[in-house]
Amino acid sequence: MYLVGGAVRDKLLGLPVKDRDWVVVGATVEDMLEMGFQPVPGVFPVFIHPQTGEEYALARRETKTGPGYHGFSVETGPDVTLEQDLARRDLTINAMAEDERGTIIDPFGGRKDLQRRLLRHVTPAFAEDPVRLLRIARFSARFSSLGFHVAHETHGVMKEMAAAGELAHLQGQRIWQEMARALMEAQPWRFFQVLHACGALGRLFPVLASALPDSPGDENPEEDGEPIAVLKRAVTGKASLALRFVCIMQYAVDAGHPASQLTAWLAVEKKTATLFENWLLARPLLLDLPKGNARAYRQYLQRFRHCLPQLGQLAQICMPHLAEQLSPLLEQARAAMLSVDVAELQEQGLQGRFLGEELRRRQEQAIASVLRGSGEN
Ligand code: ATP
Ligand code: MG
Repeated sequence: MYLVGGAVRDKLLGLPVKDRDWVVVGATVEDMLEMGFQPVPGVFPVFIHPQTGEEYALARRETKTGPGYHGFSVETGPDVTLEQDLARRDLTINAMAEDERGTIIDPFGGRKDLQRRLLRHVTPAFAEDPVRLLRIARFSARFSSLGFHVAHETHGVMKEMAAAGELAHLQGQRIWQEMARALMEAQPWRFFQVLHACGALGRLFPVLASALPDSPGDENPEEDGEPIAVLKRAVTGKASLALRFVCIMQYAVDAGHPASQLTAWLAVEKKTATLFENWLLARPLLLDLPKGNARAYRQYLQRFRHCLPQLGQLAQICMPHLAEQLSPLLEQARAAMLSVDVAELQEQGLQGRFLGEELRRRQEQAIASVLRGSGEN
């Protein structure tokens, strides 16, 4: 039994190891069951250790069964070697194993690539699984702050994969799974830059891709383009996953690629999808508010009453200059609006439509005095 994957990599990098994956060589399914391992339903041949709960997979080997990207099959058996199992892994830094005595088995130069800070594919079989494009972009988001970058020849393979339309085989849900993890890494913008550099972003999110410069401004952040600059501010502000999603994906939609279609495809959480749609509706209204009257303020506050704090955060990230001016004003306007007492109007005998109209009139009056006090409008 060997420790494999991220645990070996992270240990060698001196990073904390979160989850440990193991590979078992020379055993059969029956051996595993006899030792008390629990099979994971649907992900043959992976087992859960009865005490530690960690994942143990039987060593697997990939063999070519035909031409093209998907002409391969995966087999398992007691004759599959550790090296064969490591060969089907994505990156050299993920293709090392450690035995029980702490010896590192490293047939593909993973340690050297760790030192050289290279994300490099193990074999040409890399091209057989489009998820690997997303994974390498995600590892860039995680490790580029340590100096890691995509190896030149790997970049070439990625370009070929993107050009061959490999990403069309991916489900939106799978894309979101990787993107969501990337968004919470140290430098999430790398995820998008790496996908853009190989041409994959244009296949996945054409509108976003056209909003990014062809070559990222590595040294010069002013050349990042707005979507990347906004995402960087979201990270600085420790924004939540939902906010980060909205920050970047607002640049992925247009009339031909509507928000509802994007969120349905990616299968993002309902509350994230709702926030996204609200932000896209709120954004133009916010831009107009500085020249708006009390009615415009009231309508904005009323319409978005369920998500005002999040919209405020988004405004701070996406339009900081405007937000600095608007936020205190919106806060005061909201307080003024809430100070109008409905019960008092009801006591005066107002009901139904008349009550609503009078309430709105008084709210706008209260907001107007806030706006006058601030010297606006
Ligand atoms: P993390 O720290 O995010 O868990 P990890 O490298 O451990 O990183 P896992 O998704 O846990 O990633 O996968 C464990 C190992 O399985 C990887 O290190 C890699 O060797 C291999 N692996 C996972 N997914 C793929 C894939 N799509 N193609 C090739 N190898 C993969
Ligand atoms: Mg792992």
